[in-house]
Amino acid sequence: MKQLFAIFGNPVSHSKSPLMHNLSFKGLGFDGCYARYLLEDGSTLKETFFDLKLKGINITVPHKEHAYNACDVLDPFAKKVGAVNTIVEKEGKLYGYNTDAPGFLKAISEFKAIKKVLFLGAGGTARSTSVILKEVGYEVTVINRSEGRLAYFKEEGFKTYTFEDFVSDTSSYDLIINMTSAGLEDDSLPTPKEILDRVIPPAKACVDVIYGKDTPFLKLSKSYGKATKDGSDMLLYQGIIAFEYFTDHAYTFDEIKTCMQKAFIL
Ligand code: NDP
Repeated sequence: MKQLFAIFGNPVSHSKSPLMHNLSFKGLGFDGCYARYLLEDGSTLKETFFDLKLKGINITVPHKEHAYNACDVLDPFAKKVGAVNTIVEKEGKLYGYNTDAPGFLKAISEFKAIKKVLFLGAGGTARSTSVILKEVGYEVTVINRSEGRLAYFKEEGFKTYTFEDFVSDTSSYDLIINMTSAGLEDDSLPTPKEILDRVIPPAKACVDVIYGKDTPFLKLSKSYGKATKDGSDMLLYQGIIAFEYFTDHAYTFDEIKTCMQKAFIL
């Protein structure tokens, strides 16, 4: 019987996930279909899931915390970071996972000899990815426009700064990552330019989690001759890991990758 999947978000119309997953279902011969669903009220996530008779979903902005609360069983990592972006139904129960963070970790693994990482931004994506980076031995420092969102990072033992405090920092960083939405729908940089002009030159590489766009941050990094990458691989890898959960690990990572990456050239 055909199994149904979807992405829940608001907005959701521009999501690449339906194309990524449908290409993989087709390419691998799995009897599944993946749609998009505009979920306006996150508190209705669980009933909507069952009303639509879905087998699994991905969840995007702004519902990752609602997704966390909707689950009956949480993967230990999703539990730790408080954010779920993948849910699978098994025998009437909802199982929640976070695939953004392992997807991100894999996406930056091409950059070698990296120890010190500077996160520009302290939102939900920074939260889950900082925890996984720390677990595998990276040293993460977080700088954010406003103080409020830094509290979680302080509690978790990360070094944190607001733009104003950062003047006291004398470190250099190997990898600079834009974790904000600055540059997504505007031409803004994630921090004042003076900060970037100081941290980019000594860095080995610069990464943006925004995908499919040469953001002002990436342009500035390239002007300094740095190796750069956007968020496309992160999107691809979180999708592959979600697909593994959707299909109960019936296919290898590379088999899924071969099919799913076609979504990025269509
Ligand atoms: P959140 O809304 O949780 O956090 C947004 C962060 O960006 C906050 O730290 C906020 O700072 C900061 N910010 C927003 N606008 C500006 C600005 N103009 N200048 C400086 N700081 C700014 O967002 P998410 O963590 O969910 O998403 C962050 C980015 O990650 C988005 O661009 C999203 O598209 C991308 N993303 C990419 C994925 C991929 O697969 N490639 C997966 C998931 C997310 P403040 O606290 O001061 O408001």
